[in-house]
Amino acid sequence: MSIQLALDGVTRSFDGFKAINNLSLTVEKGELRAVIGPNGAGKTTMMDIITGKTRPDSGEVLWNQTVDLTRIDEAGSARLGIGRKFQKPTVFETQTVEDNIALALKDDRSVWATLFHRRSTEDTARITDLLELVKLTDHRTDMAGDLSHGQKQWLEIGMLLAQDPELLLVDEPAAGMTDAETMRTAELLRGIAGKHTVVVVEHDMDFVRALNCRVTVLHQGHVLAEGSLDHVSANDEVIEVYLGR
Ligand code: ADP
Repeated sequence: MSIQLALDGVTRSFDGFKAINNLSLTVEKGELRAVIGPNGAGKTTMMDIITGKTRPDSGEVLWNQTVDLTRIDEAGSARLGIGRKFQKPTVFETQTVEDNIALALKDDRSVWATLFHRRSTEDTARITDLLELVKLTDHRTDMAGDLSHGQKQWLEIGMLLAQDPELLLVDEPAAGMTDAETMRTAELLRGIAGKHTVVVVEHDMDFVRALNCRVTVLHQGHVLAEGSLDHVSANDEVIEVYLGR
């Protein structure tokens, strides 16, 4: 496997406080990775740096071993194939589920096709596949506004996948979900990894366990431990700083 993303010695301060402190981290192409850590550990700032929302003071962020992401803004990172799902779902509430996906398809013509209810067979097939992937096949013609919170999160993931990102960054998808939705979300993300690289920031440990992937524990802006959830949860430093024991 090749390296998709490599952060090397990245530091970012806010008013003299190092939110990210000499952070080094690599993610393989197609990998599913969970990033955990207490509040203030630097998880959001790390995502902001990867997507070009925030520039680090020092260090390197390499994309596919070639492109320096520290020189690229958010629009540029999206063009490179980096998709970001923020915590709150953002969907077009007054459009149907399938039209939400259609509007997100990369091809600009799909917007007009959707507005005029003319869709190519290719786009229809792609929408069908995406709805299957995000478990919304039975809700194809429902209004997005009528979906549950969890279903809206899946729809937004589907909309991001419609743009065929190489890397998908997902911020706390399980927040506010029922237990059943949480488990389905883990299944969904496991299903899209491989074709896409997926980095998930999450607090819910049942969800992280269900992801069954490599876990990175952030603390004070750097990596405290990395490995399976069992491995990192047995680490004394992690137990002390993360679990507060
Ligand atoms: P997490 O997402 O793990 O909770 P954050 O990346 O949001 O952590 O924050 C890490 C630290 O950096 C926190 O102490 C936070 O207060 C600080 N921080 C983040 N962004 C800013 C900002 N724009 N201005 C000042 N401090 C910030």
